[in-house]
Amino acid sequence: MSTPKKGTDLSDVTCNRCGRVHREVSRETAEAQVENYNKHLRGLEPKDRKKWPEKPAEVSDYESCDGCGAFYLDFRDAKPGDCPVGATLGAIISRTE
Ligand SMILES: [Zn+2]
Repeated sequence: MSTPKKGTDLSDVTCNRCGRVHREVSRETAEAQVENYNKHLRGLEPKDRKKWPEKPAEVSDYESCDGCGAFYLDFRDAKPGDCPVGATLGAIISRTE
């Protein structure tokens, strides 16, 4: 297995515990997405705010498996067949971060 360099070669990874596939993002990208999302939430009118999740996003949301909660370091490179074509992948902090 090759180890990607920090901030590059972001790829699809598979949870070692439950097999769910995620797409790696850099910590910087995760921070930017969290900021954008929370800014959007803060800008909503109260009537519209109710349609969105109550909890603001946190970078820690990107540190664990969407399926089982495994830590982001407990992943391996995804192999063909790990994930059905067309599935939506959750984002997770890159193992190189
Ligand atoms: Zn998992």
